[in-house]
Amino acid sequence: MDYEVVIGLEVHTELSTKTKIFCGCTTEFGGEPNTHVCEICSGMPGTLPVVNKSVIEYAIRTGLATNCKITQYNKFDRKNYFYPDLPKAYQVSQLYLPICQNGFVEINASEGGKKKVRIHEIHMEEDAGKLVHDDFEDCTLVDYNRCGVPLLEIVSEPDMSSADEVIDYLEKLKAILQYIGVSDCKMQEGSLRADVNLSVRKKGANEYGTRTEMKNINSFKAIKRAIEGETERQIDLLESGEKVVQETRRWDDSKGESYAMRSKEDAQDYKYFPEPDIPPIEISDEKIEQIKNALPELPEKKKQRYMEEMNLPEYDTGIITNSIHLVRLFERTAEICGNPKDAANWIMGELMKMLNDTQTLPEDMKFNQDSLGKIIVMLNENKISRNTAKKVFEKVFSEDVEPEKYVKENNLEVMTDTGAIKGIIEKVVADNPKSVEEYKSGKEKAIQFLIGQSMRALKGQAPAQEVTKILHEILD
Ligand SMILES: [Zn+2]
Repeated sequence: MDYEVVIGLEVHTELSTKTKIFCGCTTEFGGEPNTHVCEICSGMPGTLPVVNKSVIEYAIRTGLATNCKITQYNKFDRKNYFYPDLPKAYQVSQLYLPICQNGFVEINASEGGKKKVRIHEIHMEEDAGKLVHDDFEDCTLVDYNRCGVPLLEIVSEPDMSSADEVIDYLEKLKAILQYIGVSDCKMQEGSLRADVNLSVRKKGANEYGTRTEMKNINSFKAIKRAIEGETERQIDLLESGEKVVQETRRWDDSKGESYAMRSKEDAQDYKYFPEPDIPPIEISDEKIEQIKNALPELPEKKKQRYMEEMNLPEYDTGIITNSIHLVRLFERTAEICGNPKDAANWIMGELMKMLNDTQTLPEDMKFNQDSLGKIIVMLNENKISRNTAKKVFEKVFSEDVEPEKYVKENNLEVMTDTGAIKGIIEKVVADNPKSVEEYKSGKEKAIQFLIGQSMRALKGQAPAQEVTKILHEILD
């Protein structure tokens, strides 16, 4: 029997506003436990929340960048539930009138071509705190620093049908959020996390199967494995005549399996009601227009422009435009060296290799954005060899050295004094009489050895062509 998988995503992203959604506490990640808290975000009685205007603006920006309609009259609601890290015993969220609705993000479809993943809604809400399990003391501690950090929940329709489509959607979404500057999207710090709703059905069936939800998976690799694992589990159940139960499951990435956490709640279980402490939010046409006009060029548009104006390949532009950090480096490098093609080649080649080898994300690159451009300029002006250029870039990447200074201090410039180069090569010839003899007796290949020895003696600071030319002059 052939099955198809149906996936929808709820993505939570922490906004990078300076302060929390309803108080003036900092949103900074980490900090000593319970130091980023006040009477509002720790839920003291008698306090009143005041909505942070930046949160509304960030939400509108996100909605416009994902083709949503902005709900010009929207409201907050109370979602009631008790959890030890939620001191008020309710979460302020939006249920009835979320701020953004009916958008889409275009992704690459598994069977080729493009497809739209529809966005049902985007709503604003507050994050909860964090429980810290202390095995040593055998107790659980609670840290309220994260309470009240603003979140956007981006809810898609069940429009994805493979793990690859989900990853592509998340990558596109992450790129958009970073471009418009609303979130750093650091998955390892929980700034971007996804709940996966998944069901399977027989191919061609009209009705959806029963879905399960896997919560808060926070790496692309884990999401991919969770989807594959859960798809298999559901198909196995159906094949053996059993039923899929609607429930929330936790994906254990280290074991590679999921287990049931609780039966899935519906909205009615939370006894939502309109938040009485916060007046409705009204957004004017002018405000929307103003935010729309200030949006930066978005990934897809940038990609098209790179391809058309700079004649760069689709694959390269796709990789570069997927990260605002690579975009910034690319644009600065191209500006300095005056050659977008060179800039793209160095990023796609040397930089990608170093990022991979050191397991570094583009957002964690630490070096000066001008450095790569300077290296390319030195190379193009024949001041350094290609080999040296690569070595200098490695130093820039690992230690953020200033490339021009580093080249000078370490004598890495190409030798331009032909007399000096000739002197060194003559010495190599004198030191290797056997190879010279072989070459003279007709063994053409022997010259390769002499070229190698000369390059070595010159520490790679003379162009190989030049060295070969001089060697022929001496020997022929
Ligand atoms: Zn506070």
